[in-house]
Amino acid sequence: MNELSLVNEDALERFYNLFFRNRLAHAYLFVGADGCGKMETALAVAKMVNCQGKISKNSPYCDICSSCLQANNKSHPDICLIDTAEDTIKIEQVKDFIRDFRLKSFMGKIKVCIIRSAEKLTLEASNSLLKTLEEPTDNTLIILTSVSNEKMLSTIVSRCHQMNFPLLSTRKLNATLTEMFKMKAEEAQYLSMVSEGSLGKAKDLKEKNYFEEKNYYIDEFILSFDYDKALKVILSDKIKTRELLNVLHSWVRDAMLLRSSVEDSRLVNIDRIAELKRFIGNASLAEINELYAQVIKTIGLYNENLNIKVPLMMIKELIDR
Ligand SMILES: [Zn+2]
Repeated sequence: MNELSLVNEDALERFYNLFFRNRLAHAYLFVGADGCGKMETALAVAKMVNCQGKISKNSPYCDICSSCLQANNKSHPDICLIDTAEDTIKIEQVKDFIRDFRLKSFMGKIKVCIIRSAEKLTLEASNSLLKTLEEPTDNTLIILTSVSNEKMLSTIVSRCHQMNFPLLSTRKLNATLTEMFKMKAEEAQYLSMVSEGSLGKAKDLKEKNYFEEKNYYIDEFILSFDYDKALKVILSDKIKTRELLNVLHSWVRDAMLLRSSVEDSRLVNIDRIAELKRFIGNASLAEINELYAQVIKTIGLYNENLNIKVPLMMIKELIDR
């Protein structure tokens, strides 16, 4: 998987402009949900400020000089990365990096340190990093990434320039899933719509075979005749109930859109369009709206931990009508 293809182009262009006007600050904090390209952008910035080739706004790194190649291989002597699967980033890790950071850069350009998930920094680690942030050395750049700045030491946050990363648009996420994961168009469309712009969430759902699973709910519940049996299985399990409600919601929403003749690209369950059309049959928009309202009401009751057996029965009656 090519990580750099998720680079946030707008953010990179801002860095390019700052870099060329010699206005780069010493420390930045990238904030945004998982999977929105913070890390990929940080690596692209590191590559840009160290590139030895000819660069421009449209191609901010050359990707062929030795510096770019080392950055791509994660073996660049001036780009250091703290990226751990552990729950915390400990003081030892930060101290090692600071020691290294104070040395002159190997290749004569800018030393970049990227700390992923900076909310994982322990209090001690944060305090030791603070000194480096307060007394920056020349030609150094620190980039912290985090899903939220609220869990971070406020003194760290206040010493960094914060950049917020928006989630991806459904279209970009869809393209990414098709391109990077070689996903079928229908699956990519489904996952991009239910992941609300988060590649991280889409990857997670892919690993859980969520696409196949939602079709199980459609077949066993929405289109099935043996409703009571299906309901028994589903209601005995909280996760299954939640998933069923999500699938129901997307299905009835699709039915409404289809009845209103919107374009297919806005449908979540595009892979089941034939069944969706059969499902709608001759139902009017008002009838589908009534069903939709009942689904929303049921989800509301479920969120309040109330029993939804009867509301689900009513949904089934509306479906069978
Ligand atoms: Zn280069």
